[in-house]
Amino acid sequence: MRTRERDIFRKYLERRGLKLTAERQAVFDQLFARHEHVEADEILVRLRARGKKISRATIYRTLELLVDSGIVGRVRIGEMGYRYERLRAGEHHDHLICNECGRVIEFFEPRIESLQDDVCERYGFLALSHSHQMRGICRQCRPRAVSAAEGAEPVPERPKPSGRRPQLVH
Ligand SMILES: [Zn+2]
Ligand SMILES: [Zn+2]
Repeated sequence: MRTRERDIFRKYLERRGLKLTAERQAVFDQLFARHEHVEADEILVRLRARGKKISRATIYRTLELLVDSGIVGRVRIGEMGYRYERLRAGEHHDHLICNECGRVIEFFEPRIESLQDDVCERYGFLALSHSHQMRGICRQCRPRAVSAAEGAEPVPERPKPSGRRPQLVH
């Protein structure tokens, strides 16, 4: 199931003269056990709970290698730092991040993906990856946030563009 990603990671390490050590494998296993957005310190807590001797520095270095190899994504969560998630080829998604509770909501919108392709084409740019995220207040936190900022008007609906949508070319 995760053999493919492990092979990618192992080859990535080999190209840099590094080995897939037990510690690196343990961090990999944590991230690829399930799909979630997890903090580095949470990985540390879980590995220590399983009796693994691993330093925080090793976890952070391994996470950097995993992100750089392209099989792990990193989502910036404001002041709280980063969360990490496994990535699968062909399973791209973007994120909505709640400023109040830190919830990370995934979305996939083909129209946004196409528009990004258009932008790249316009600039003759070959995109290898992208990350799109919106910060805000999630549905659960909105009632609280709105009463805190009294008098805040709900966001008006944007008028539909009247012009013809540009043709999308792939
Ligand atoms: Zn929230
Ligand atoms: Zn995600």
